[in-house]
Amino acid sequence: MLNGKTAIVTGSTSGIGLGIARALAADGADILLNGFGDAPEIEQLRQQLAGEYGVKVAYCSADMTKPADIERMVETASRELGKIDIVVNNAGIQHVAPVQDFPIDRWNAVIAINLTAPFLITRAVLGQMLARDWGRIINIASVHGWVASVDKSAYVASKHGIMGLTKAVALETATTGVTCNAICPGWVLTPLVQKQIDDLAVREQLSNEDASVQLLGDKQPSRQFTSPEQLGALTVYLCSDAAGNLRGVGIPVDGGWLAQ
Ligand code: NAD
Repeated sequence: MLNGKTAIVTGSTSGIGLGIARALAADGADILLNGFGDAPEIEQLRQQLAGEYGVKVAYCSADMTKPADIERMVETASRELGKIDIVVNNAGIQHVAPVQDFPIDRWNAVIAINLTAPFLITRAVLGQMLARDWGRIINIASVHGWVASVDKSAYVASKHGIMGLTKAVALETATTGVTCNAICPGWVLTPLVQKQIDDLAVREQLSNEDASVQLLGDKQPSRQFTSPEQLGALTVYLCSDAAGNLRGVGIPVDGGWLAQ
């Protein structure tokens, strides 16, 4: 379905972003990977995806806290893939602390990566998408785009912010072939969440397994993690013609978290 389309997936060297990049590549899209990690391992991943799916796979190490890097990433994607049809704003970080102790540098980093980077990328790519009258901007928000949890002020603010950005961009493009939507996962087992499980295990003196069960039990009625593959499949759907009139929505994939 996505043969001939090209996609930037930010933060795609691990976790959800990698699941999404893999699903888009499997559907035929050329991909630009982005994110941190060990350079030889990333190069191996790049070659593996290209070989497995027969698509072009580029990589850019751009740091989402740096506007000049973001510009460089968009230029790299345009040059190496020829154009940009799909952007998945996925790179994101978490920091957990009560608001009165929340380090200001962590607040600024969370807002920069989770909210400002998606704005800068959208701003940079929208012109070419509108010129071709086709585009998909998919923001990986969170259930924390809808509701809050304690000790996550910056994350919750950034994810509520990206829901607002999603709606504003959707309205500005509503009469065009460009759509902008958000995906709102609950718990997905990735390095970002593993760190929270490890912290819970230490704090409550639990085994890793018991900490996972407690983490899920507190919020996610299905008591199952959503998988990066499930989010990849939803992203492919959002890129399809069937989703061409979905505009400005945030789709929860949360095992019932928001139904409570
Ligand atoms: P992860 O930690 O596994 O991956 C994050 C990716 O972002 C990595 O590739 C990392 O290298 C990259 N990254 C981090 N800082 C960066 C920076 N400054 N510049 C460029 N890349 C950077 O995290 P994840 O769990 O896969 O999260 C991906 C997205 O999904 C985030 O936006 C997160 O908020 C969201 N999300 C995750 C969950 C979950 O349960 N894991 C739930 C809801 C939403």
